[in-house]
Amino acid sequence: MKNVFEEIVKGNIPCDKVFENERILAFNDIAPQAPVHVLIIPKKSITNIADASEEDSALLGEMLLVAKAIAKTRGIEDNFRVVTNSGPEAGQGVFHLHFHLLGGRSLSGRLG
Ligand code: AMP
Repeated sequence: MKNVFEEIVKGNIPCDKVFENERILAFNDIAPQAPVHVLIIPKKSITNIADASEEDSALLGEMLLVAKAIAKTRGIEDNFRVVTNSGPEAGQGVFHLHFHLLGGRSLSGRLG
């Protein structure tokens, strides 16, 4: 089965783009769980955090700063959540690394 985020990076599947640079793409989640629900992904093929390595340190940091910048653009910079699922039992459904940026409503303190 094709990996939907790999296809989005290649431009074969459209997305509702929020941000893009040479390394990172961000787009609105197709099934938002909150008024703001943006996915931040690397263009590089990394399955999840468990698959990331030392050489990805700067990229991972930049992804968090992109999340922060998008939160500010959307006016949720004071209250937002960044989540990533690593592995199927942790809730990962798409096996290309992504950070969920969530906000715009009161979020529960519980994680799962
Ligand atoms: P996860 O369960 O952490 O792997 O999250 C995958 C996320 O990708 C879910 O929130 C889905 O709603 C979202 N998603 C799946 N396909 C698309 C798509 N084509 N465009 C945007 N978001 C998508």
